[in-house]
Amino acid sequence: MSKIAIIGAGAAGIEVAAILSKQHDIDLYEKEAAPLCNIRNKALLFPDFTPADEVADQMAAKLNNPRIATHYGMNITNLQKGQSGWQLTDATGTTHNADYVVLASGYEVFDAHKKEELGYGIYPGVITSLDLEKMVKTGKITNNMGDTPKTISFLQCVGSRDEKSGNNYCSKVCCVTAVKQAIEVRKMLPDTTVYVFYMDLRMWGQGFEEMYRTAQEEYGINFVRGRISEAASTYDQRVQLKAEDTLMGLPLNMSTDLLVLMVGMCPSEGTAQLANAAGIAGKYNFAQSVSEHLCDNLTTQEGLFVAGACKRPMSVNDTIQDARATAVTILEKIS
Ligand code: SF4
Repeated sequence: MSKIAIIGAGAAGIEVAAILSKQHDIDLYEKEAAPLCNIRNKALLFPDFTPADEVADQMAAKLNNPRIATHYGMNITNLQKGQSGWQLTDATGTTHNADYVVLASGYEVFDAHKKEELGYGIYPGVITSLDLEKMVKTGKITNNMGDTPKTISFLQCVGSRDEKSGNNYCSKVCCVTAVKQAIEVRKMLPDTTVYVFYMDLRMWGQGFEEMYRTAQEEYGINFVRGRISEAASTYDQRVQLKAEDTLMGLPLNMSTDLLVLMVGMCPSEGTAQLANAAGIAGKYNFAQSVSEHLCDNLTTQEGLFVAGACKRPMSVNDTIQDARATAVTILEKIS
């Protein structure tokens, strides 16, 4: 029986813990005060609109297991390989030992303040997809004056596919999230007009393309191939947009009550810090596996494994499947 440390109590960390705890003792470390924060921040999950809390509750139930010791509010800041196993150091300087470590420290969303030209944090009518998710969860979508918005515009690829912010990669989940959120808006506010500004829509998963069609045909959502280059405030506190319709080749000026920035996925602070400390940092500071094809849960460091969105942008269901693969890899290696 081995002592396994898992860093991150999100979907990946919990799934790995639940499987490995059948044979091993697990220490599950989470810097937040509770598990599954990134799932609980969401209202409904694509593509089937399952309530996020329902999924989170089922996952959290897996932690009712005497072989999983949970350590919430414990921020692991360093990770080093010792003579016999691994040494984890938390923010207070206390060290914790483990035979094996799974890095499942996940992602955080791109900080939209960095795109100053889009006015997040400057104009109250500019919000992020995460802010909208919270509104959908409370059942009330309002503009900054507390009124029902007549127009909502979404902008894709904020902080992804963007040389200026240093993130050239695609975040993979924000296209389908925008389609999902646009449908949610139209369900809750049938009189609100919705625009989605996109570079190209990446509907890669099962059921995504159908959802995109439904968004257009049943919910009348307007998809505009184009970029918003600038947002400003109007005299009546709406948001003025400077955009370009790249299909028509026309500049556009329009105002909207809410501008929703579809923020991409970045490595969490913990992912970047620990991947660098352990010598497995890859591009953009995501954790690097040995090979995406055959060894996607192994790292170049013996006894250190990776699971979920600490490696790259991933949906919730892909994260869970990846975590299962990590657990199988570990069982094969150490049983
Ligand atoms: S998933 Fe869509 S919105 Fe997100 S970065 Fe990729 S193309 Fe842009």
